[in-house]
Amino acid sequence: MLTLNEKTNLSEKAILSDQKASCSEIPHEISREIPFGRPWIDEADKQAVLEVLNGHVLTHGPKCKEFETKFSNFVGGGTAVSTSSCMASLHLAALHIGLKPGDEVIVPAQTHVATVHAIELVGATPVFVDCELRTGNIDIAQIETKITNKTKAIFLVHYAGIPVAMDKINSIAKARNLKVVEDCALAIGTIYKGKHVGLWGDVGCFSFYPVKHMTTGEGGMLISKDEKTARDIAHFRAFSVDRTFSERKIPGVYDVTGVGLNYRMSEMQAALGCSQVAKLPEILERRKRNFLRLKEALSKIPQIDHVLDSPHPDFINSHYCLIAVLSEENQKNRNDVIMQLTEQGIGCSVYYPQPVPRMKYYRDKYKTSPEEYKNASCISDGSLALPVGPHLNEEDMSLIARTLNKILNQL
Ligand SMILES: *Cc1c(COP(=O)(O)O)cnc(C)c1O
Repeated sequence: MLTLNEKTNLSEKAILSDQKASCSEIPHEISREIPFGRPWIDEADKQAVLEVLNGHVLTHGPKCKEFETKFSNFVGGGTAVSTSSCMASLHLAALHIGLKPGDEVIVPAQTHVATVHAIELVGATPVFVDCELRTGNIDIAQIETKITNKTKAIFLVHYAGIPVAMDKINSIAKARNLKVVEDCALAIGTIYKGKHVGLWGDVGCFSFYPVKHMTTGEGGMLISKDEKTARDIAHFRAFSVDRTFSERKIPGVYDVTGVGLNYRMSEMQAALGCSQVAKLPEILERRKRNFLRLKEALSKIPQIDHVLDSPHPDFINSHYCLIAVLSEENQKNRNDVIMQLTEQGIGCSVYYPQPVPRMKYYRDKYKTSPEEYKNASCISDGSLALPVGPHLNEEDMSLIARTLNKILNQL
């Protein structure tokens, strides 16, 4: 058995090896090394960044505006605000809602720690809810049992790109007057009942970290179906000055209407974002093809209990990765399986290495009973995340399935 610490090291190594791969073209013909994630940077992307560098406007310029417009066109609505990361977007959302000490916020136990950090940073209290085993998403049936008169908001995540049933969330929120924030970091291209995620709640937060669907190096976006919400947050994101750089008639002259932060995106990042957005349809198509091929191949392996996926055609998955949950008797071998796959050149990862209430800070502070997040623990401890990114093809998927089958049979 590996200790918790060793488990954490394992996933850090996976992330480092993700990053090592940040080079140009898609090289699966040359090598059978299959990295978990690899940013897809082509000549158009490089040219877009160079153009900004050849000009003189590196921030506060037209590229961020252009990227925001292109992004909201892609998701089909809302007002978009570019930010420095998804974490920054989530923090801005928590501040905008006005969360404060004493407020409670419903949040899934199984998510990236950023979703919960945003609540913690403003002094509010996260109230963890377990997830469903089939999708990894928050178990909506349990939300109402956790709501008290202190509850102010629901923060949720679309797990690995699988949408949450947002109409159900919104009706709970409406009845109790709660705000809804969607962590869409893995959910570009995720659609529920015909509407892109991020447009259902009050605010949606996206990430452009290198191994996500598209990248700007670091970077994020925040969208809102309510224009005033987006405008107010955009203002706060840039020191709460009363006019943007281009709106200043006399250079250097502006006023400040409140406290604020600097969570802006740079023009180089936005230029990369513009050229990456154009590739999203192709990226999503390749991911879907890879996912379906791998899911089909894994369905023949008895040591795999199930693959997390959308439950119904109303739920359109963006296929960030494929999370395979091992059958109960094989779960104890999970880390061994990951190490053997890695040794054979197949990058894999764990989403997420522990439920958030089990991570040291949250464990020490809230002492949540493990009974409260049993399904989340099952996914953290008993599943592996396999790559389906656009740097891979269907042959790679067959190779992953064959290798995994061999490893599982030799345990
Ligand atoms: C990656 C990720 C984040 C953090 O995104 P950054 O842009 O690195 O801040 C937040 N939430 C989820 C679900 C993620 O996967």
